[in-house]
Amino acid sequence: MTHRIYNFNPGPATLPLEVLETARQELLDYRGTGMSVMEISHRSAEFDDINDTAIALFREVLGLDESYHVLFLGGGASTQFAMVPMNFLSKDKTAAYVDTGSWSSKAIKEARVFGNVHLAGSSKDSSYDHIPYQPDLPGDAVYLHITSNNTIFGTQYQQFPDPKGLPLICDMSSDIASRQLDFRKFDLIYAGAQKNLGPAGVTVIIIKQTLLDKCADGIPAIFNYKTHAGKKSLYNTPPAFPIYIVKLVMEWVKKQGGLAAVEKVNRAKKDRIYEMIDRYPDYFKGTVKPDSRSWMNITLRLPNEDLEKKFIAEARAAGMGGLKGHRSVGGIRVSLYNAMPLEGADKLTQFMEDFKNKN
Ligand SMILES: *Cc1c(COP(=O)(O)O)cnc(C)c1O
Repeated sequence: MTHRIYNFNPGPATLPLEVLETARQELLDYRGTGMSVMEISHRSAEFDDINDTAIALFREVLGLDESYHVLFLGGGASTQFAMVPMNFLSKDKTAAYVDTGSWSSKAIKEARVFGNVHLAGSSKDSSYDHIPYQPDLPGDAVYLHITSNNTIFGTQYQQFPDPKGLPLICDMSSDIASRQLDFRKFDLIYAGAQKNLGPAGVTVIIIKQTLLDKCADGIPAIFNYKTHAGKKSLYNTPPAFPIYIVKLVMEWVKKQGGLAAVEKVNRAKKDRIYEMIDRYPDYFKGTVKPDSRSWMNITLRLPNEDLEKKFIAEARAAGMGGLKGHRSVGGIRVSLYNAMPLEGADKLTQFMEDFKNKN
């Protein structure tokens, strides 16, 4: 048996074992071609099928019709921080942004290169410990940008703001496809794959036709969403192998029973860990307000840093890795993406209880 740990890494992160096994089986000879997916043309019938299937799976699993384009681009979510304003913002216009942490702040910084930013809400003054649920929206903004799950600070929207008619743009990098949502609320969703969808190297962009129609002219073709939407992401060579893995992951999500089933497991996992935080609040100190708790990244502190170091090391020795908080905030972070099985959360919960009793 291959040695596998419970991998609580925040990203790149754990992938379903089944997906890795399929990829291994098909690695040298993809379905009788005698070549790996890494070696075939992105214009081949085989890759076309991978691409089309992946697009169809996103629409099916997220409940979207063909008025939504699904794109697979390179550059990570960070490239989307720039590409969104490059397409929809200009010097004479204003976009509304909610600042809920490091990733939102980076998105805001890039938007300011292209136009005006109106800060519609921020939790910066309280160390990003909650979601400001009531955005203050100027009527003339060209869009509202939010970050659905704040990977570093451990907060997540538990209901989404009414954008008051503005296009709603969402960085869903760390919680896409983790729960049931009305995805039709959003005009553009983007997500780097390496948290919940697959390996680093591909970013999924889901964009509604009505927003696509508003893309700026006069920007480089490679950065224009229209270029990619018109060519099913095959304007240039796409990150083919990561797209293939994302397709396998979405097949796995569907096989689990879709988002209803995935949500059920994700709910059970986060309940286990928050239950420890609520039971021993002086020992496992949650860092966020209850109405903003993330299901995907649970952040906490122990009574002191030495205990945190010990916790991380002993957990690792017991087969549970990736529990160190982000370098900018410290502490512990438990990432519970889709591919983390319930047994992983159970094992960690037991470990927490034992650790507390011994220390
Ligand atoms: C990881 C992450 C990013 C950055 O993704 P890259 O692919 O490294 O550019 C952006 N936003 C959120 C919410 C993230 O979790």
